Amino acid sequence: MTELTHLTIADALKGLEKKDFTATELTKAHVDAMAAAKSLNAFVTETPELAMRQAAESDKRRAAGKAGPLDGIPLAIKDLFCTKGVRTTASSHMLENFVPTYESTVSANLFRDGAVMLGKTSLDEFAMGSSNTTSYFGNVINPWKSGNGKDLVPGGSSGGSAAIVAARAAMGATGTDTGGSIRQPAAFCGIAGIKPTYGRCSRWGVIAFASSLDQAGVFARTTRDCAILLKSAAGFDPKDSTSANKPVPDYEAALTGNIKGLKVGIPKEYNVEGMPEEIARIWQQGTEWLKDSGAQIVDVSLPHTKYALATYYIIAPAEASSNLARYDGVRYGLREPGNDLREVYENTRAKGFGDEVKRRIMIGTYVLSAGYYDAYYIKAQKVRRLIAEDFTKAFQQCEVLLTPTAPSAAFAIGENQDDPIKMYLNDVFTVPASMAGVPGMSVPAGLNADGLPLGLQIIGRPWEEETVFRVSDVIEQKAAFTALPQTLRKKAA
Ligand code: GLN
Repeated sequence: MTELTHLTIADALKGLEKKDFTATELTKAHVDAMAAAKSLNAFVTETPELAMRQAAESDKRRAAGKAGPLDGIPLAIKDLFCTKGVRTTASSHMLENFVPTYESTVSANLFRDGAVMLGKTSLDEFAMGSSNTTSYFGNVINPWKSGNGKDLVPGGSSGGSAAIVAARAAMGATGTDTGGSIRQPAAFCGIAGIKPTYGRCSRWGVIAFASSLDQAGVFARTTRDCAILLKSAAGFDPKDSTSANKPVPDYEAALTGNIKGLKVGIPKEYNVEGMPEEIARIWQQGTEWLKDSGAQIVDVSLPHTKYALATYYIIAPAEASSNLARYDGVRYGLREPGNDLREVYENTRAKGFGDEVKRRIMIGTYVLSAGYYDAYYIKAQKVRRLIAEDFTKAFQQCEVLLTPTAPSAAFAIGENQDDPIKMYLNDVFTVPASMAGVPGMSVPAGLNADGLPLGLQIIGRPWEEETVFRVSDVIEQKAAFTALPQTLRKKAA
């Protein structure tokens, strides 16, 4: 039998149902795998005892014929989702000792359906980054290694979630994506990840970064597993006024394998200058796979793509600077003493936030300040509208778009670190869909010459995650991506 930690969620659910193994055995296997994956530093907080307790309860529910759709499935939760009674840090010193008294809606939905929580995964501080190197709790290491054996970043900001799913120590995980934080780490770690339509998952209880862009989503090793997880995670929540009151479809049922006649758009502007050959090649390969499967390939244009990054790096910091104003040392989180209130604020915020967060707060307050507001923030909002309209027009010609997920494979820890602009360029293919609020998914499509995974991104019409999943599943079948991170190869053999 396949090792329990190498099963997909779909197969694990069948195995649990057939009593091939119990939730306790499945969870124990993952708790052991977490211990073996300790060197990846993927978790801020591990909760193995809680997991074993939840697994025992799950076994009881199943014995009583009351198992939920995710019953007994061990998951990791990004440490940006508030979890009742379990420390939630956003990977920041500011919230190092913050224990929420409430549960985020997305994690509550997963637990309602029977999921087991293995722990809280590390991220870039307050989800700001693309490399998971800005966490107060240290870098997360990608389980994939480059040919020269160098440690690589897992991507970010949801790097801990992606790394631990790739390392087969969690069957799936939650993530959040503001400008690419689910899709890019999924690509870097050789797994699947979806950022649904803005409003599909509740943001309630998710520590805010940029509220008009933040969207929760899921990671797993297959498209089907993502479909299973999203079905549970998504849904209307009256506690989030931007959450959509729409029924959540059965995403698994959308995986028909049939994309005959489906129109797939290839946006010409994503052929960015200096795109590495290996990225262009995998994109071409993906296009051919879809064509071979009966899809109709159409060339489309998203003319404002070139402004997306610049616009994002005005709007996201602007919203971040407002959202992060609440960390003042008075209400909750870190408090550093001072001689007067102003000094308490200054000392707390100077100590509590890392460099990247401070950089964003400074950019954000600058673009929102009187005199610059019109020139930067309002201008950026106008351009954002144009970017969104590009997608509306493109989707009159096609049902999905196919693009690379990221402009490179995972890079070495420390690389791009001293050059924020270079780091920001990582988001070039993921940011536009975030600006438009449309769904995007990354699916592993192959390996580069150095043996590292590369992902393809499928972008869909608003609320049409089903089509995104269907196309992703077809790519997955064609790519037949079975490679394991080097760190796991010996064990599986
Ligand atoms: N890398 C982007 C940023 O640094 C996106 C992060 C995210 O999606 N949370 O803002």
